[in-house]
Amino acid sequence: MHPTLPRSLLLASVLVLAGCVHQPARLASPGAQADDNLNAVLWMQASQEYRAASIQTWRAALLQLDRALADPHWDALVPSERANPPADLPPAVIVDIDETVLDNSPYQARMVLDGTTYDSGTWAAWVDEGKADAIPGVLEFTRAAQARGVTVFYLSNRTEAQQAPSLANLRKVGLPVAGEHVFLGKGAEVPGCTQASSGDKQCRRQLVGRSHRVLMQFGDQLGDFVEVSDNTPPGRDRLMSEHGDWFGERWWMLPNPTYGDWQPAVFGNDWSLPPQAQRAAKLRALRPAR
Ligand SMILES: [Mg+2]
Repeated sequence: MHPTLPRSLLLASVLVLAGCVHQPARLASPGAQADDNLNAVLWMQASQEYRAASIQTWRAALLQLDRALADPHWDALVPSERANPPADLPPAVIVDIDETVLDNSPYQARMVLDGTTYDSGTWAAWVDEGKADAIPGVLEFTRAAQARGVTVFYLSNRTEAQQAPSLANLRKVGLPVAGEHVFLGKGAEVPGCTQASSGDKQCRRQLVGRSHRVLMQFGDQLGDFVEVSDNTPPGRDRLMSEHGDWFGERWWMLPNPTYGDWQPAVFGNDWSLPPQAQRAAKLRALRPAR
């Protein structure tokens, strides 16, 4: 399932809470509401800087791929998720789907313009439309991986029920799909593995690891790489301290400024809080110059 996205607020509420935010000379159109996601979605859709950041990530990963293939002990699963020796297993890479290999910014742009927020119904309709484009740079990497005999596994929190439209979208943009088994969605059963919640990915990573040596992982969320058992700012800091050295070598993070677990981490993961309270917590999490 697509992660929950932030809610838009009335500009007046924003100004009351922010205090120090300067009011624009006038709104773009009378009555228009401010949307906290406008700049982030616009950056993904209108900037060459976003394209460059994505391309350089996939290109840098490709430069490491032959080194990873040549080293039988190179594996991108954390030791706690690796129960079997990887050396003699066929190679694979694990990629997340949304904002890693497929660009859903048109869905988000639709919400910004309509003044709506994420819900599972509109998200499911967008998945069924199958109109997401490939993230810049991903086709070159995955095709090169396929040519080297590396299987690409798509480990996503799209649901298992969304397998067919998701695989159709992946194929439509030219991503390699070795078979239905390469889609591991939310709800996939993994014998012998118990996970904390259906959205956690560690069991599905272990499943890939049982049959393959995982050369690299790609995602746009920390949880795409390792279990985030404590989604708080200190908990996330600890994970980066422990595993950060793998980024740029075995783990590759794609830029996604539009949503992610970094947001609820600053308001206690309490989505029942009203939007104003969520936003107030975000403002308190800022670190202004002193
Ligand atoms: Mg994602």
